[in-house]
Amino acid sequence: MSTAAIPQAGCAVIGGSGTRGCDFPVDAGTGARVLEQDLVFETPDGTSPPFILFETAAGRRCLTVRLHGWRDGVTRGEASRQVFWVLHKAGVSNIISEAGVGSLNPLLDPRDIVIPDDFVDLTTHRDPNMIAGGNLLIMRDPVCPALSRALFDAAGRHSSVGRVFGRGTCVVTEGPRFESRAEIRMMQPHGDIIGQSMCPEVWLARDIGACYAALYIVVNYAEGVVRDWSHEVLKDIFRDDAVIQARILLEAIDAVADSDSCGCGDLRKPSLLQE
Ligand SMILES: [Zn+2]
Repeated sequence: MSTAAIPQAGCAVIGGSGTRGCDFPVDAGTGARVLEQDLVFETPDGTSPPFILFETAAGRRCLTVRLHGWRDGVTRGEASRQVFWVLHKAGVSNIISEAGVGSLNPLLDPRDIVIPDDFVDLTTHRDPNMIAGGNLLIMRDPVCPALSRALFDAAGRHSSVGRVFGRGTCVVTEGPRFESRAEIRMMQPHGDIIGQSMCPEVWLARDIGACYAALYIVVNYAEGVVRDWSHEVLKDIFRDDAVIQARILLEAIDAVADSDSCGCGDLRKPSLLQE
């Protein structure tokens, strides 16, 4: 196993379905430059998915990787641990994930953007083991307010997106299937959107001492909410909005200040269980 080849980077983008329709980060047209691609690393949990190392227009070094989709023989929990082990070794301090989500809140419509500030974890098969270990992870404010604000501001500058919401609770399910009407009725009181991406990433980020925020675009109504959703609309959003999502991510990375005043670092304490 070799860790020597893992490059240092300050930021990371965990790609989901929101940018799947474009070649991230180049297609964003913001001047981001790919430095290395097809970077695969051996980790304690197996071989990582391929990473790209790139530099933003402002000169920030970032790693990006796709976690959406499933590789044969690799569980979602294993894939998450592989990715966060690499990000830990790379010294990443800001992590943004993106994905398409369903709406639980009937006020939301497809193409609205939600930057969640909380979550309910209903995943069932994702190993909760941590990377750095020995930490008590406080989930009082699980999402970084500074990183979220940068995403909110960047999204608000793009008139082609739907409404932008700077808070909301994401109910996280195991997937990859969608939910039944009865499941949605059970989940609806507990959140605004439903997705498959925020856990375990949100607490693995805290475990490795990184700030975390998520950019989610609503791609469908959850079953039984408002009206039956359209597969054509979902495909159109993934195809047509990917470049805008990419631009929002890159603009947010270049806008966020290098500061530890956000308070995220205070929400990771040494575990009392190991004393
Ligand atoms: Zn933070």
